[in-house]
Amino acid sequence: MIIPADALADLRAALSAERVADDPHILDSYAAQPFHKVEPGVWVHRPIAVAMPENTEEVIELVKICNKYKLRYKAISTGWGAQGGAGFDNVVQVDLRHMDRILEIDVENRTIVVEPYVTCAQIQAELMPLGLNLHIHGAGSNCSPLASATSHMGMGFSSISMGYAPRNIMGVEWVLPTGDLLQVGSIGSGAGWISPDGPGPSLRGILRGWAGADGGFGIFTKCALKLYPWAGPSEVNVTGTGMDHLDVEIPENNSFHLCVFKDMESYGRALYDLAHAEIGYIQAKVAPGLALAISQFDRFKLTRDNENLRKMVGGFSHQFFICLQGNSTEHFDYQVHVLESIVEKNGGSMLDISQVMGTPPGAMWWMLVRNSLAPAMFRPTGNFYSTLGGDESIASALRQDIEGEKLKEGFIAEGACEDDFGDNAHTLLYENGLFAHTEELLLFDHRNREQGEKLKDLSDTVMREIPEKLLGGGGFSFFAGGYAHDYLGPQMDNYHLWQRRIKTAFDPDDLSDSKYFINSEGAELAEH
Ligand SMILES: Cc1cc2nc3c(=O)[nH]c(=O)nc-3n(C[C@H](O)[C@H](O)[C@H](O)COP(=O)(O)OP(=O)(O)OC[C@H]3O[C@@H](n4cnc5c(N)ncnc54)[C@H](O)[C@@H]3O)c2cc1C
Repeated sequence: MIIPADALADLRAALSAERVADDPHILDSYAAQPFHKVEPGVWVHRPIAVAMPENTEEVIELVKICNKYKLRYKAISTGWGAQGGAGFDNVVQVDLRHMDRILEIDVENRTIVVEPYVTCAQIQAELMPLGLNLHIHGAGSNCSPLASATSHMGMGFSSISMGYAPRNIMGVEWVLPTGDLLQVGSIGSGAGWISPDGPGPSLRGILRGWAGADGGFGIFTKCALKLYPWAGPSEVNVTGTGMDHLDVEIPENNSFHLCVFKDMESYGRALYDLAHAEIGYIQAKVAPGLALAISQFDRFKLTRDNENLRKMVGGFSHQFFICLQGNSTEHFDYQVHVLESIVEKNGGSMLDISQVMGTPPGAMWWMLVRNSLAPAMFRPTGNFYSTLGGDESIASALRQDIEGEKLKEGFIAEGACEDDFGDNAHTLLYENGLFAHTEELLLFDHRNREQGEKLKDLSDTVMREIPEKLLGGGGFSFFAGGYAHDYLGPQMDNYHLWQRRIKTAFDPDDLSDSKYFINSEGAELAEH
């Protein structure tokens, strides 16, 4: 499909000819989105135009023009996944890269106001000299915290102390699917970006739920985020770049530890103890097969093909990385002491990462603080996918890890994905408490057509497993597309009926591309 000439002319008049493109080669570059996409191949739908607004007024104009011509539209901020690409044939891709300003940093009240294309790395560089830091979701510091907080998931290594991205929202400027402007929170009554919930009724539950609307519910143009303390130096002593050549001095009152336990039970008990102790700045399990695959692929292959080495690496399965940070030497020493007692009590060991993975602890610490590790996920096989998972109690998360591994073994046996030794659970704690996130990762190559075909029904398999095995959460089935809501909804208090009513009330013509949100095709597809 091509864009109607009148619509193109209106968009160009509203934005400028340079910032609205319909050249096929530019459109194709937006359609190459192989990540978070289970259908085989690289391509999502080709958009009919790409528009790059510079400010909120232009976004409003653009959305109104799309409404006038009944064209769908889809926003991206940093654009790292298929859920940001066009989900249908008549979509105007709204690329927000010109909206890249940090608008305000309020040190006293620990908030920041940003536009969509500001990345976590940019913000962190500004904050550290001010003694502040931000939650960086697991996609990495190269991504937009606005996209994460308003529209897509939001867990990450720093969740243990800084929470889930949408919980850090302190106010949002939102161009509704019809083109009306709404300010959510105290900013809406002229009281500044200080509260996301009023004065007046809160709209946060409408704005998004657990997974986010993935571009299916209008366009977010500004967002205020809650900030957290950073007790490290303004500038960390770093030399070298890249995973293999980083040399970093871990600053005073900061540390990195790898804690390993002998079985699932002692690992689980240690996680509960950690949560009760309320310590930890950054924490997660990164499974040994994955850690080896992203850091040293040659060694990974050697280990994979040798039964004894496999068993040895399997011995490191029940583990987590943790970074501690103290506001004073006493605070730091206290946390180290508590961590050591937890590990000892549960029969675990604290290992030297440089001897396990060959990566110096300083480099590992910095990659976790910066969250620059995430893109390395693409190193081993070119792509990865996530299965099962959800946010649950620690015990429930670990049950999902066990089921996730079993489920994946079938796919490994068929050659649908890389043999990463089965266990590739990514598990982390939230808010120094008893709530955990987990997901089972798998590595594959999207250029391998056979693997793509075999992985096609992965999301559907996961959707069936959740109710059958009484696992909590919707897992990552939502990447299957809108019909996942219609399949899972009846088993989860019929939330999908409410979600559809809200979507219809705000977007009567279903123009904000809802391929990954609830959509009109969903009910019919779910039947199949
Ligand atoms: C290596 C890797 C690891 C990952 N690990 C995690 C993880 O641990 N936790 C996690 O939460 N996610 C994780 N992700 C998923 C990641 O959050 C998604 O890929 C997401 O798309 C990130 O891309 P982005 O930040 O560039 O946002 P975008 O791709 O720009 O946007 C994400 C979604 O939000 C919509 N959107 C973006 N901006 C706006 C806006 N201004 N208004 C309305 N809608 C908008 C888009 O349409 C899209 O559907 C990971 C991704 C990668 C690549």
